[in-house]
Amino acid sequence: MYTELKLYIDGQWLDGKGRKSEDVINPATGKSLGSLPHASAADLDNALGAAEKGFALWKATSAYDRAKILRKAADLLRERHDHISKVQTQEQGKAYAESRAEVLTSADIIDWYAEEGRRSYGRIVPGRAKGVRQMVLQEPVGVVAAFTPWNFPTLTPVRKIAGALAAGCSLIIKASEETPGGCVELVKCFADAGVPAGVLNLVFGVPATVSEHLIPSDIVRKISFTGSIPVGKHLAGLAAKGMKRATMELGGHSPVVVFDDFDPEKAADTIAAFKYRNAGQVCISPTRFYVQEKGYNKFVARFTEFAKGLKLGDGLEKETTLGPLANPRRLDAMESFVNDAKARGGKIQTGGSRHGNQGFFFEPTVITDVPDDSKIMTEEPFGPVAPIVPFKTFDEVVQRANSLEFGLAAYAFTTSSTTAAAIGDAIQSGMVGVNSVAISTPETPFGGIKESGYGSEGGIEGLQAYMNTKFISQG
Ligand code: NAD
Repeated sequence: MYTELKLYIDGQWLDGKGRKSEDVINPATGKSLGSLPHASAADLDNALGAAEKGFALWKATSAYDRAKILRKAADLLRERHDHISKVQTQEQGKAYAESRAEVLTSADIIDWYAEEGRRSYGRIVPGRAKGVRQMVLQEPVGVVAAFTPWNFPTLTPVRKIAGALAAGCSLIIKASEETPGGCVELVKCFADAGVPAGVLNLVFGVPATVSEHLIPSDIVRKISFTGSIPVGKHLAGLAAKGMKRATMELGGHSPVVVFDDFDPEKAADTIAAFKYRNAGQVCISPTRFYVQEKGYNKFVARFTEFAKGLKLGDGLEKETTLGPLANPRRLDAMESFVNDAKARGGKIQTGGSRHGNQGFFFEPTVITDVPDDSKIMTEEPFGPVAPIVPFKTFDEVVQRANSLEFGLAAYAFTTSSTTAAAIGDAIQSGMVGVNSVAISTPETPFGGIKESGYGSEGGIEGLQAYMNTKFISQG
């Protein structure tokens, strides 16, 4: 029911024979799902050579023809969504319904880029001298090296693959070794849709070894990374050495501000469901809840009720609404957040412990009465732990929300259009959801500021991330 794990280089699927490998673990059971081959140094060199050759071919393919192939890949992904969703749930843990939504959204993302790739317009700027044509053109950047993490095995790779391919770039993607199956299945869709050999290559290995091999290569012109801030800084440094373009989608610690004028229970219903999606292992997950005093108690009660109602279990079981954490590192991290909060006077409203003795389950947790300098209020939780604290005034909450070095996502709830506009302006964040959590769609830019990174994926910005601007003055 899982998938056969292979590398994909220059149009060939390569298995583990003669290569190092590692086991992929099902986080619901702790058992191995299969063995993942690692690319050798020679494999990585082959991938670089193939991508260079692939770029020349793909760049010369018209945007119209590229779009046809991309749309076919989206159709294949939709046709195969049930199998791919099950593969993802087994390796990553999320409930099947979430996996399915992820795979179907991934198909929508491919369609968006297929269409947008045909609109990479340039412009003509009036010349100063008679007869001079000043042309601004968009060209594909070249070979891309992309690196994706374990929380969205299909969706994060697809943003990079579809964006790069629509722009006319070739790429080598190193997807997560912990959740490789989603990306293997995704790459199969592109290959079966007719993406030529060498244009898209998939490798796995020891992350630092692969990135340090690929990024300094003269063949690579752009990197795109999604993952933690420390790794992002390291990879951005490697890219800077070769003056290479980079997109960095890093961590966040998203504040949620609920103003007194908004029904606190309605806010709790919306934001609690969003908080526990993928067990909180989402970079835009709401993670610090500031509720204005009047509605505070009602918000806490309703949010806690929601958390208590979640059904922990294997994501493949129908009644499961909260799967396990993706790996044992997250379990240790959750325990450390809870212990620190308790030591600082935090009150556990629900949860707070591991669940069961198999797999990596952690209870949905709500903590109140934590100080702003506690670990849970200052470090990205990336798990099912929600701290809720009260606030008094607009200026105070803005100061507290902006006090960290993160700037990925933020949320606010208010019925006042004046407050909505003011909070949207005041929050230091790449994305702000006001009375809405819909901040990640194929058509809109997705990206952070401050230490959460730079560059956008999605929207027209997501295509431009893979384009160079060229100016031609023709006399
Ligand atoms: P980590 O810092 O070890 O790794 C983060 C990701 O980067 C992983 O996918 C890993 O394979 C990759 N990576 C690590 N070193 C690399 C290297 N030298 N070259 C290329 N890739 C490399 O942390 P982790 O334990 O996997 O996750 C913990 C933290 O990472 C979370 O708390 C969260 O802050 C962050 N994270 C963010 C996202 C996101 O969507 N932005 C996704 C996953 C993890």
